[in-house]
Amino acid sequence: MKAEAALTETETKYLMLIYRKQVEGSSDVSTTSIAKIFKVRPATVTEVLRNLSKKRLLVHRPYRGVELTEEGKREARKLLRKHRILEVLFADLLKYDPKSACKEASKLDYHASMELINTICRTYGHPTSCPCKKTIFTDVRCKREG
Ligand SMILES: [Zn+2]
Ligand SMILES: [Zn+2]
Repeated sequence: MKAEAALTETETKYLMLIYRKQVEGSSDVSTTSIAKIFKVRPATVTEVLRNLSKKRLLVHRPYRGVELTEEGKREARKLLRKHRILEVLFADLLKYDPKSACKEASKLDYHASMELINTICRTYGHPTSCPCKKTIFTDVRCKREG
């Protein structure tokens, strides 16, 4: 079973958030900080983190914070690729500002297949950054000559 298929939408939001904070922003991520951002109870966060940890996508040390595993980082990059390619589409085609593009992309990224994302990527000549200037990660199946 692909890890991608096994993740819930909520879990993908957590993975993307943790990657953005920890890898791209180099700041610590705690249960409390996640709870604040998603406006949920810390117990809810702990539950989701436990599930992600069972799936070996992160290591969760109670009272100390979380850290993504290599597999977790790979998964987060895939998800962020989808999110950011959708942002490119909304900003260009629909003239959405970066904030609105991000908001709408958040509602759809989980549901978009990588095939769809690669088609959009090809249409836009394989963009390297999204409207908010974040890196768009590559996909091996999406080649420049395509
Ligand atoms: Zn591409
Ligand atoms: Zn963006």
